[in-house]
Amino acid sequence: MTSAVDPNLSMSTSVSAKPGAPDAPTKIQVNKLNFYYGQNHALKNINFTIPEKRVTAMIGPSGCGKSTLLRVFNRMYDLYPGQRAEGEVMFDGVNVVGKDLDSTVVRSRIGMVFQKPTPFPMSIYDNIAFGVRLHESLSKSQMDERVESCLRKAAIWEETKDRLHTSALGMSGGQQQRLCIARTIAVKPEVILLDEPTSALDPISTSKIEDLIDELKQEFTIVIVTHNMQQAARCADRTAFFYLGELVEVGPSDVIFTNPKEIKTRDYITGRFG
Ligand code: ATP
Repeated sequence: MTSAVDPNLSMSTSVSAKPGAPDAPTKIQVNKLNFYYGQNHALKNINFTIPEKRVTAMIGPSGCGKSTLLRVFNRMYDLYPGQRAEGEVMFDGVNVVGKDLDSTVVRSRIGMVFQKPTPFPMSIYDNIAFGVRLHESLSKSQMDERVESCLRKAAIWEETKDRLHTSALGMSGGQQQRLCIARTIAVKPEVILLDEPTSALDPISTSKIEDLIDELKQEFTIVIVTHNMQQAARCADRTAFFYLGELVEVGPSDVIFTNPKEIKTRDYITGRFG
């Protein structure tokens, strides 16, 4: 462990420097991306890459376009008339924005856990099985195995194994968050998008989710939106800083947090952001 954060930036946490992160192959490449909510130009000429099997954090003040970018990645905007994207989001050589891939296929390969994830009003077991049934026909024992392995990966098996067939709505906020991560993993996406995954959680649940993110990157490419600087420093290999719809700075997290180049990034990190 090395201290990767300049104490002058009021960041007291000690984080792992993650050498080698920039060397990972590119999983998603964003080229000249613009996004519009009607007349509102919410993302302006965004260019950057997301490395494979790493954690990329997106930070920046409220309303700067972080969630919008996640919604472009998994084509959520298709569901809303008047919203449109221009440019490229290249995902394994295919342009997601160009609609070369069916949106259902995009969403099975790029899974998203929303800011306030809500379990489906069904049992814990069926919350996992529901999405799997849309894509695969598994036997009962295969499905049982899938449910167990996803709940284990999401660090919630011990808490759920004796109540799998009870309603998921009776779970705590932290448990629901981890269940929704398990539900996303279950359809075997390649990329997992996490929109403020711990914003409503207590410190113990937050630390469980952060440990989980560290585990999941062995298998998945992770993109996390967070306002929590210490969380970004702890979890992410790479950080992208957004401001008013523009990407102003991107690089390895230890570099960005230790020595941000942009005044806007520095002010945000130190809390002087006005
Ligand atoms: P926060 O940190 O508060 O979640 P954010 O950085 O994720 O913010 P977005 O939610 O992506 O920001 O919003 C980017 C811009 O797009 C904002 O100006 C917001 O008001 C606008 N916006 C978001 N959703 C819509 C919508 N459905 N219709 C119109 N404008 C929207």
